[in-house]
Amino acid sequence: MITVDVWLFLLVFCSIAIGWWLGHRAGIKTGTGSADATFHPEYYKGLNYLLSDRPDGELDSFISSLEVNTETLETHISIGNLMRRKGEVERAIRIHQNLLARPSLPREHLHRAHLELARDFISAGLLDRAERLLEDLLVEAPELQAIARRHLLEIYQDEKEWEKAIAAAKQLRPKKSLLKAKPPEDKSIVVTMAHYCCELAEISIAAKDFTTARSHLKHALNCDPQCVRASLLMAKIEHTTKHYDKAIKALRKVRNQDISLVTETLPLLKSTYHEMGDDQGFFDYLADCLKVYPSSAIMLALVEDLQSRQDDEAAASFLGTELKRRPSLRGLAKLVELHMSYSSDPAKGNLGLLQMLIKQLMLSKAQYQCQHCGFSGKHMHWLCPGCKEWGQIKPIRGAEGD
Ligand SMILES: [Zn+2]
Repeated sequence: MITVDVWLFLLVFCSIAIGWWLGHRAGIKTGTGSADATFHPEYYKGLNYLLSDRPDGELDSFISSLEVNTETLETHISIGNLMRRKGEVERAIRIHQNLLARPSLPREHLHRAHLELARDFISAGLLDRAERLLEDLLVEAPELQAIARRHLLEIYQDEKEWEKAIAAAKQLRPKKSLLKAKPPEDKSIVVTMAHYCCELAEISIAAKDFTTARSHLKHALNCDPQCVRASLLMAKIEHTTKHYDKAIKALRKVRNQDISLVTETLPLLKSTYHEMGDDQGFFDYLADCLKVYPSSAIMLALVEDLQSRQDDEAAASFLGTELKRRPSLRGLAKLVELHMSYSSDPAKGNLGLLQMLIKQLMLSKAQYQCQHCGFSGKHMHWLCPGCKEWGQIKPIRGAEGD
């Protein structure tokens, strides 16, 4: 059986081999290196340090005894990165700081060490120090500006510095002409920017500053016209300020932005139509949506509407027909509940048992899933807790989901 140490050895070996190869290539390009420069016997001693839990002092002595030059730089960086991935961030920091203490290295090599040190600080949670290093890199290392901005964006996001995050994201945003020509994954930065604007809008809404909130939401929709969250927040403001027609307009917009998220609009849409005295308008809209997008949530909203405006039998009849076309656990649970209301006592007992079993089954099922990393859960998140991507979580489709 292969042990963890053997896997670690293979990982370290591959990393050093890649480091040697990169150093070799760099040497060939610049004409300054020799093919075997990085395979100094000291590196094998280094492997031993990496594979065994030797005291920190011994590792420090080993690192300081290693020659640092343009040919061995990639190997030093690889060893530091390995330490970071192993969770030994302090050692990674020492290795990368050791490189920065060699001003004789070419500037671009020092910048690489600078970037890795910033990554070490991010891993260690030392965000202020990482931020300072990355801001220096923006000024001094044009070749690393894009990656430095990406890391700064992560830091601003973690610190909820939304204004700074928007400014950094603007610099990473592709030109509009390029955006149209590129595939959807390149639009992730505009999706992200729109959510930053929504975060600012949420702060303004909490402070009841609706004018500023509206301005942030307009900015969000300028960045990403498909931003469902912006439409939902706009509708929330318009509902609160009793501009019901505007709230309905914002909520109905979601159907064209992302029809899979129409389900998120239903509670507010129902309430708004009701405030306007137009419950039939709500029913007609749902029926229209259901024709183009079969959904358990939309179907159940229609059933509840029928239940309140007609009776349980009319609702059960409609639901029975819909379930034959598209079976779902949630629909079945509702059908059992409706039948219980007008069944005889012995049948009620059995239906109650069936209802309990269906509810237990539903409790074990996730309702939402991230399309980027597969994270799943029972609640909607705009920022995926798994992969930290914005706007990737959607309702799960199928008999057990929506
Ligand atoms: Zn995810």
